[in-house]
Amino acid sequence: MVTLDLMERKRAQEVLERSVARFAALIEHGRDVITIVDADIALLYASPAYERVFGYHSAELIGKPLGVTLHPEDRERVTSILSCLVADRGAVRNLECRFAHADGTWRYGEVTFVNRLDDPAVLGIICTTRDVTERVEAAARLVHQALHDALTGLPTRSLVMDRLATALARTARANDVVAVLFCDLDAFKVVNDSFGHEGGDRVLIEVAHRFTRELRGADTVARTGGDEFVVVCEGLSGVEESTALAAHVRDIVEEPIVFDDFETAVSVSIGIVTVAGSEASTADPLTLLRNADAAMYRAKRGGRARWVLFDESLVSAATCRRGLESELRRALVADEFVLHYQPIYDLNDDTIVGVEALLRWDNPTRGLLQPHEFIGLAEETGLIVPIGTWVLRQACNQMRRWACEVRWPGWMSVNFSGRQVAEPGLASAVNEILAASGLNADLLRLELTETALLRAGHAAAVELGAVRKLGVHVGMDDFGTGYASLTNLQQLPIDFLKIDRSFVITLTRGGKMRDNGNAIVAAVAQIGQTLDLETIAEGVETEEQAKLLREYGCPYGQGYQFARPAPANEIAKLLTAPNFLPPGAGDFAAWSSS
Ligand code: C2E
Ligand code: MG
Ligand code: MG
Repeated sequence: MVTLDLMERKRAQEVLERSVARFAALIEHGRDVITIVDADIALLYASPAYERVFGYHSAELIGKPLGVTLHPEDRERVTSILSCLVADRGAVRNLECRFAHADGTWRYGEVTFVNRLDDPAVLGIICTTRDVTERVEAAARLVHQALHDALTGLPTRSLVMDRLATALARTARANDVVAVLFCDLDAFKVVNDSFGHEGGDRVLIEVAHRFTRELRGADTVARTGGDEFVVVCEGLSGVEESTALAAHVRDIVEEPIVFDDFETAVSVSIGIVTVAGSEASTADPLTLLRNADAAMYRAKRGGRARWVLFDESLVSAATCRRGLESELRRALVADEFVLHYQPIYDLNDDTIVGVEALLRWDNPTRGLLQPHEFIGLAEETGLIVPIGTWVLRQACNQMRRWACEVRWPGWMSVNFSGRQVAEPGLASAVNEILAASGLNADLLRLELTETALLRAGHAAAVELGAVRKLGVHVGMDDFGTGYASLTNLQQLPIDFLKIDRSFVITLTRGGKMRDNGNAIVAAVAQIGQTLDLETIAEGVETEEQAKLLREYGCPYGQGYQFARPAPANEIAKLLTAPNFLPPGAGDFAAWSSS
């Protein structure tokens, strides 16, 4: 009986020991850190996991206040919660706080405190801590990513809207001025096309860097789209300070961007909106941003690389622009575009040597629109690419008819925008259109503005070179309005130069301007001869201008003095006029009506 009792006790003892060992193993190897603090919040016990997770050996901690293991910012909160818990026997609390790691970093812990001060086996508060650093950091990264742009690290649109709302509230109290600058890089697509997306990204990062470097700490700079940045500045003295700021932003962006392997330059168009303290409490951030955007569009249309201050008239312009944009999208399908043609004359014998195709939009409600009313918009929206293809096809077909049916031996000039040459596969597209129309390549000329040619990067220059290999002539339009150097003229893949109308005008103006104009035109004609580039003067309006051009050695001219742009059938009459009609040419009346 006694033996049996002893054996049972021994077995019970073994069971107890096993379960203690099991719990000890659980505590030792579990991923949670178990600590016990006494009623004074000093550490009584720390499980071995403490060293694994926080790097400190438990012996270093026993007897110390729990606070010393916590982040200074969390100390007061945690100890005050624990002080309350001490009085609340059996209570449980959960919280999150940062613990010191022996390597000097902070770890996030999710802690459950259970008050077991009354339990004789514990006599303390059990703290079970789980290391949640990775989860907390991942969540913080997600929040940062949502609010910051991955490429530049700048705040995104949602964060800048938030900051703007805060800035407005502060401005209302401080009674100063807050400004929103909507900045859009000009022709950024060209940078991407020239240097690849990686190059484009590097340029964006550099621009973002310049923004953050130059603006004050209190200002917010956000990247709100591909090449779009929004700056919010508060505490300004007035509108003048906002425009000075915009001018500064423009200057810093325009500074050349130099990398080890390539160099480029970009400009920026800026729309500004300002709000004074008195209006700040009622201003709506979304409307402000939209207004700044409308002002930016005005800057673009005004020729880019400039700032425009918002005023109410821009609201109706923006609405009008949106209307125009959707109409423009439909216009191609609805077949509303037409080409007019303007003859180009040999200044020495007054014969027509070529015609230039000029686009018009026969809008059902607005009437016949001129290029300046819609080409800018077509470029901004990218619609210029399909429209340009239509123009080229139409012009080639027309020229083929003139070449065959009236045997007119001149050439057809077609305007191309920078956006079009930035499209890959330009040469094959041109070749295809030539083949479809049956037109000889050497009867076609492409005109690109000076600025477009200078902005065109390496890839575009290669494409233009391929276009020239087809036999098509390529030339620089509006020469004198950009900054082409002699080196540029020599290196660009071009065959002719069109002297901008603004120089031709000065030929016959009064005073010093006249002298300068004459000198410039003479020099350009000379450069043309030296570099073997044909020169064509644009906008010749008087016989006197024509005479001077002839004297300076400019061989060709176009302008109201000779003929205005007109529909194909009107021009056909000029081409088939007796002195232009080569022997054997077909009957004009037979095809002019088609
Ligand atoms: P541009 O290529 O320099 O064309 C010459 C412009 O000068 C034409 O204006 C023409 O009508 C005008 N002009 C010609 N002679 C005179 C003159 O004696 N006096 C004055 N004051 N003006 C004269 P338009 O047709 O309004 O075209 C304006 C611009 O629009 C063109 O300038 C060209 O850059 C662009 N454009 C026209 N058609 C197209 C097109 O199909 N594609 C592209 N991308 N751009 C086009
Ligand atoms: Mg032109
Ligand atoms: Mg021109």
